Amino acid sequence: AVRTRFAPSPTGFLHLGGARTALFSWAFARHFGGSFVLRIEDTDVERSTPEAVDAIFAGMRWLDLMPDETPVFQMARHARHREVIAQMLEAGTAYYCYSTPAEVEAMRELARAEGRKPRYDGTWRPEPGKTLPPVPADREPVVRFRNPLDGDTTWNDLVKGPISIGNAELDDLVIARTGGVPTYNFCVVVDDWDMRITHVIRGDDHVNNTPRQINILRALGATVPEYGHLPMILGPDGDKLSKRHGAVSVMQYDEQGYLPEAMINYLARLGWSHGDDELFSRAQFVEWFDPSHLSRSAAQWDPKKLNWVNAQYIKQSSGEDLAARVSSRIVARGGNPELANLPAVMDLLKERAETLEQLADDAMLFCVAFDASQIPADLAAQHLTDGARAMLRDFAAQAAEGEWTKPALAAVMKSVLAAHGAKMPQLGIPLRVAVTGRPQTPAVDAVLALLGKEVVLARLHAI
Ligand code: GLU
Repeated sequence: AVRTRFAPSPTGFLHLGGARTALFSWAFARHFGGSFVLRIEDTDVERSTPEAVDAIFAGMRWLDLMPDETPVFQMARHARHREVIAQMLEAGTAYYCYSTPAEVEAMRELARAEGRKPRYDGTWRPEPGKTLPPVPADREPVVRFRNPLDGDTTWNDLVKGPISIGNAELDDLVIARTGGVPTYNFCVVVDDWDMRITHVIRGDDHVNNTPRQINILRALGATVPEYGHLPMILGPDGDKLSKRHGAVSVMQYDEQGYLPEAMINYLARLGWSHGDDELFSRAQFVEWFDPSHLSRSAAQWDPKKLNWVNAQYIKQSSGEDLAARVSSRIVARGGNPELANLPAVMDLLKERAETLEQLADDAMLFCVAFDASQIPADLAAQHLTDGARAMLRDFAAQAAEGEWTKPALAAVMKSVLAAHGAKMPQLGIPLRVAVTGRPQTPAVDAVLALLGKEVVLARLHAI
């Protein structure tokens, strides 16, 4: 059965590139009816923090990309990593190397000077018939993998196609540092093996690790998984996406009012396509996702397109759904969602909003106790002229008589305009200023209908 994994290092937030890797690994598993698992690669103790672990979980929860099994923490598996190193030493696929760092550096220098690829010269590598140097006293060895010297290591990358690296290019990788601490590349290999990972989908910054990892897996007699390396995400200016381009943590997009569904839809299109389809549900994505449509070239982050996608998801959402998502944002602004029929307000506002934050800003109109004293003096002077006040009085009187619905209020406005020989903005703007303190709002008849008869008439009488 297909098993994919997401293997973040908890050294910061879940960033956009990580989220996309997680999404594609998840979708791959779902598409093939397999499992998606999470491994926290926390062996870099200097840089790993519990906060970063929490942030990764928070991001995955928000995007609803939770793993199917209990997450594995790499650090907790060090005993197992050491066990495999001992087995490899025993089997002769790994060996102790007593060269000092200075000696290794000198080997590299020499290779460079001779125009060869800098590498460890194999001093301590056992070969049939070779006598190794005497073991220096008081020196702690590292453990090196006995990499094949000849032939090529080849794999058919799910994204990039066939890749082949000459084994002569690859060093005898250090798999345990002095003191026996397993190295990163080695832990990945043992964990992917033990976790029975069938497809490794990760960023293409790891493509150089792959031949080394494949060789170690072969030496262990393990089944080599398939690999797919996703091209990186570039910022709008063509540089590697970074903090400079705005929010980097996915949770910042939550704060800024993006819907997780929209984010998934947008991330899915970063390096994958299905014809010209831009908007699709999570279920459609899973059904359509197949690695042959992964792009080989870098994807570009486009904030305008993300906003467009988010706006489409907002438009498709029901007023109730949006009200539930926006309510806490209104409270955070000091508003009271109870003052409004929030689902109806959302239905009015959702046509023009790109984010939930915008919806909350716009909804504040309906969620504050407003009175005439809050009308800015300059707006009052400009818009609440004697002529405008006369129209507002007529409007209040006629509207009070009729039904309090959007079409009825529109009809009253028309009749007041006709009686005064005025044009729409001459009544529309003063009405907005008098009732909301703002010269611009969504359609004024809709705003008045939603604010309600009592509120509107009280505000009109107060000016
Ligand atoms: N921990 C690595 C990273 O965060 C990923 C390793 C892998 O996917 O093999 O870049």
